[in-house]
Amino acid sequence: MQGYQSRAVQLTEALVRFPTVTPATISIFEYASEFLMQLGFRNKLTSQIDSNGDTIFNLYSEFGKGSPRFCYAGHFDVVPEGKITSWNTDPFTPTTIDGVLYGRGVVDMKGSIGAFFAALEEYLRTDYTSGTICLILTGDEEGLGSHGTKAVVEKLLDSGTEPFDGILLGEPTSTNRIADYIKVGRRGSISMTLDVVGKQGHVAYPEKATNPIPKLMRLVDHLQKIDLSEEVDDFQLSNLVVTNIDAYNQATNVIPEVAQAAFNIRFNPAYNVPKLINLVNRHLEKVDTNYQLTVLSGFEPFYCGDTKFVTTVKEAAQDALNITPQSSTAGGTSDGRFLHKLGPVVELGLNCETIHATNECSKVDDIGRLAKCYLYTLRHLFKK
Ligand SMILES: [Zn+2]
Repeated sequence: MQGYQSRAVQLTEALVRFPTVTPATISIFEYASEFLMQLGFRNKLTSQIDSNGDTIFNLYSEFGKGSPRFCYAGHFDVVPEGKITSWNTDPFTPTTIDGVLYGRGVVDMKGSIGAFFAALEEYLRTDYTSGTICLILTGDEEGLGSHGTKAVVEKLLDSGTEPFDGILLGEPTSTNRIADYIKVGRRGSISMTLDVVGKQGHVAYPEKATNPIPKLMRLVDHLQKIDLSEEVDDFQLSNLVVTNIDAYNQATNVIPEVAQAAFNIRFNPAYNVPKLINLVNRHLEKVDTNYQLTVLSGFEPFYCGDTKFVTTVKEAAQDALNITPQSSTAGGTSDGRFLHKLGPVVELGLNCETIHATNECSKVDDIGRLAKCYLYTLRHLFKK
């Protein structure tokens, strides 16, 4: 490994020592602010209180000016360590055994942040001439997610910020080798509930009551027959999954008053939120019009696979690691759903096998490889 690659491992270890179970507390932000300030970055550390009463910190840092404009985005918070006795090492004491670094957040995503910090240091020392480099580092990605990236992006949009030519999000995406997969978009997601109201009564006198359950079952059965088969390149098919059915009834001698089903649709860009609400209503109305549909949350899909930045990252990976990344949009949602409003987003990070798991770990060499890939991405994007 070269000097900056060992440095990436060292920085990862330093970050893992902060026990930042979501939401991340201020000390790791102070550490990062100090690191970036020494490189000449202008830092803006902000905080807000979320609906749980937790203080959510975000760090926005900027270096240089003019174009091209590049942004690295990541989160400092980690998921809880779980049952501590199931770990072979202390989750917040980074430990290397046989070339593998263990610790909570090594992969998701302090290893990526450490790799980027080292790549940045090396790039500014050796190659940088002009252009803007920004970092968005947040603290509640694994929690509510209400005051992290979403809030920073909204603030930047409100202030009339120039779009970025590329945003690199350090979420783990690799499977067998570093940079074998990058994420270039995500399916949309909509969560809804379906309520049917009946009339409560005694099970021995069903004629005096209206049971909402059979009607809900018919509606749910019909829901699952909605045709979502339109295909889009680089995307999985859309799918609807029923996630819960509840009649709020523990008694065996009572016909319940209400019954509710909950469901989620993951969808490719052939669909959008208003189109799906319409589609669901049209299908349900064929069965019965006496129901209530409530949208709990809706995120549109996004796709950056056809942008110049994707080509830049692929060329950088080829030069750095002799690998051409495959574009993918698989998986759950990520902060990319907010970031893409600021410019094309590519997600590229460590091997995702042990994320959120006991004994989360990465090969030490992989952190070095990722740092190299990030360094080459900077070189390719900013080359004259
Ligand atoms: Zn993550």
